[in-house]
Amino acid sequence: MGFGKYDPQQVEQKWQDNWNETRCFEVEADPARPKYYVLEMFPYPSGKIHMGHVRNYSIGDVVARYKRMRGHNVLHPMGWDAFGLPAENAAIKNKTHPAAWTYSNIADMRAQLKRLGYSYDWRREIATCRPEYYKWEQRFFIQMLEKGLAYRKNSPVNWCENCNTVLANEQVEEGKCWRCDGEVEQKQLEQWFFKITAYADQLLDDLKLLEGSWPDRVITMQQNWIGKSVGAQLTFQVKGMDVSIDVFTTRPDTLCGATFMSLAAEHPLVEKLIEGYEHADTVRAFCRDVANMDRIKRGADDLEKEGVFTGAYCVNPLTGREMPIHVANFVLMGYGTGAVMAVPAHDQRDFEFARKYNLPMQVVIQPKDTVLDPAAMTEAYSDPGFLVNSGQFDGLQNDQAKQVIVEHLGKEKLGKPTVNYRLRDWGISRQRFWGAPIPVVHCEKCGLVPVPEDQLPVRLPEDAQVREDGRSPLPMLESFVNTACPTCGGPARRETDTFDTFMESSWYFLRYTSARNEAAPFDREALKYWSPVDQYIGGIEHAILHLLYSRFFVKVLRDLGYTDEAEPFKHLLTQGMVLKDGAKMSKSKGNVVDPNSMIGKYGADATRLFILFASPPEKDLEWSDAGIEGAYRFLNRVWRLAEDLADAGALKAVGPVAPLSALAGASGGELSAPAKDLRRKEHDSVRKVTRDMENKFQFNTAIAALMELVNEMYAVKDALKDAPGGAEVLSSALSTVLTLLSPVAPHLCEELWVHMGHTGQLATMPWPGYDESALVKDEIELVVQVNGKVRGRLTVPAEADQESVRQVAMTHENVLKHLEGKSIRKVIVVPGKLVNVVAG
Ligand SMILES: [Zn+2]
Ligand SMILES: [Zn+2]
Repeated sequence: MGFGKYDPQQVEQKWQDNWNETRCFEVEADPARPKYYVLEMFPYPSGKIHMGHVRNYSIGDVVARYKRMRGHNVLHPMGWDAFGLPAENAAIKNKTHPAAWTYSNIADMRAQLKRLGYSYDWRREIATCRPEYYKWEQRFFIQMLEKGLAYRKNSPVNWCENCNTVLANEQVEEGKCWRCDGEVEQKQLEQWFFKITAYADQLLDDLKLLEGSWPDRVITMQQNWIGKSVGAQLTFQVKGMDVSIDVFTTRPDTLCGATFMSLAAEHPLVEKLIEGYEHADTVRAFCRDVANMDRIKRGADDLEKEGVFTGAYCVNPLTGREMPIHVANFVLMGYGTGAVMAVPAHDQRDFEFARKYNLPMQVVIQPKDTVLDPAAMTEAYSDPGFLVNSGQFDGLQNDQAKQVIVEHLGKEKLGKPTVNYRLRDWGISRQRFWGAPIPVVHCEKCGLVPVPEDQLPVRLPEDAQVREDGRSPLPMLESFVNTACPTCGGPARRETDTFDTFMESSWYFLRYTSARNEAAPFDREALKYWSPVDQYIGGIEHAILHLLYSRFFVKVLRDLGYTDEAEPFKHLLTQGMVLKDGAKMSKSKGNVVDPNSMIGKYGADATRLFILFASPPEKDLEWSDAGIEGAYRFLNRVWRLAEDLADAGALKAVGPVAPLSALAGASGGELSAPAKDLRRKEHDSVRKVTRDMENKFQFNTAIAALMELVNEMYAVKDALKDAPGGAEVLSSALSTVLTLLSPVAPHLCEELWVHMGHTGQLATMPWPGYDESALVKDEIELVVQVNGKVRGRLTVPAEADQESVRQVAMTHENVLKHLEGKSIRKVIVVPGKLVNVVAG
């Protein structure tokens, strides 16, 4: 009959319509069925999908389709991380509005994703810029405020004096403003924070739950970001003043080697220390310069160490040494206490600083075999050793000394053991327009008043005009700002900061479980059924912040009574990048391959197939024009195979045979040997593909196994068409190819499935379970040895007994040759493996 030419555009549109009309991928919670929640990190609606998206979502879609066929009730949703700065920038540039720009991009991208045939439940689509979404996070914020988990404090921001505005970190380019190229300063502003540090220990400890199901390197990155260190807080009295300086150190064992003190430029004591000092102005100028430095550069190891003496001294609590107090550019206020006891002999940064300013150095940790001489040292010694120049502590092993010294200081109230974290509280205020409003008002009488829950959402006025200078229009928008105080009814002003967009992405995966609920953020039962996400898939660039904030949010929501889960994502897969000519695709490099043009030329199935076949999911993938050509050719090959078999008379007679169900029965006789071979190959392919899917989604090797099966079918089809059982086995093998290939190339497989005469959608068919007994070969190969040396190989029936194997072995020509003139002493048969003839 002939199917005509493979036309992906026509076939793909047909099946996308079919899935849509039959609501094939719409799901509801069903406690009677096992659930599987697979999720790809949702995109920012920039307007166009790129190959990175295609890769991420194709991986997710194969997982979703596979798990569905394995009998799971699969939740697979999609949505939009829709707030953010690019919308404002685009609105300024294109004289449009961020909302209009965003919604139109969403419409474009939704159409592109639909064109790829992803099996999303589109009813659950969310856009985080909609008040129906952000109203719930405003509620979470207020509940966190009540619990003391949200608070306001002064904090530095990037400030451009020219533009008179706050800049996001990504708007600061090499210390300059992105718009006017002016110097960026650090300015103190009242801002909102989440107390994520209150969950530092849980966030760290619960990483253990993820071991083996998250990539090791992501777990390590999270551990490092939280940065727990166990050490001591020590107190240094300032000489001649009634004040003291607290420091945090992980090396209390080196305390006797502390010869000076370094403070951060922002340390609150600086002004007091320099009171009356003749060079006070120099110190102030230095502090101002350092405070305005780029914070990332300031923390870098290769920063040129600089500092200035404050004129004041503090006293080493163990040695009584007077230690000059400096302000140093490498000390950050954010870590520890903003003060560092400097031990130049044993800390590299202190060493560099001491060498530069000629400050004293005292060795207090000595390695076993050498004696360190401070004058000759070229770098700090930070390895283990025993204590010297430390009075009563001399001779102690340095690890042991840590505890002994802290205990000793504890008695004098000069120190205590402390745990410190690198993790800071999460600053959630943005002085931007295109974000969710922070739901508080400032009342002259009552101060800060949270907006009551029944007055939520505080809507972002979507029609507000963005300003040419990039500043948020909210503070100037009288209709937004002026309001009545919810407590006293008097005049009040709304908060005009908006939430960091990481807020929206920290809980969206929970909202998908109840996306259309208007009465509550979640249906309790639906959330319980679907949580946690079983498989999360996204780029490694989100390994730290997004995942950490999501983990934090879930723990907070648990403590607020919304969920029972402690962790949001059971398994995590971080897919590799899509490269072209060895580099990440980017406009500036001019190496971007547009998915739309590939889909237009080869179809969605070929695009998906190429991207899944070219590399294992977690590795980088090199784009190749030849590769997608090859994927397209393979699909054509499957198409023609199906066409050819459909035309064959014998196949018409047996009709469509379900995967793996070709048995001898229907044709009434034994299967011929080539039919048995193909049947074995078919079962073996199911085994391989199933194994590759289960083992970290190794789609590339799974696809390779299917290609092999197709090759095998081409090789034997003409011989098999009319052989006993051959038609059945061919039909069954083709059904298997289509079933196993369908998660990857769903449209083509659905089409050929129907052409074969099967009924029902392939998307809802069960995954075939292979038969171990079908894998058993009828004949096996044995090695024959003479006195331990291989002299020949035999093919014998698999069920042959030892005696018959022995007999066949003794007829082998080469074996006989090596036995000439010898008498046989013993014949050992190892079943299924070898025969060894001992002769002499
Ligand atoms: Zn500027
Ligand atoms: Zn009031």
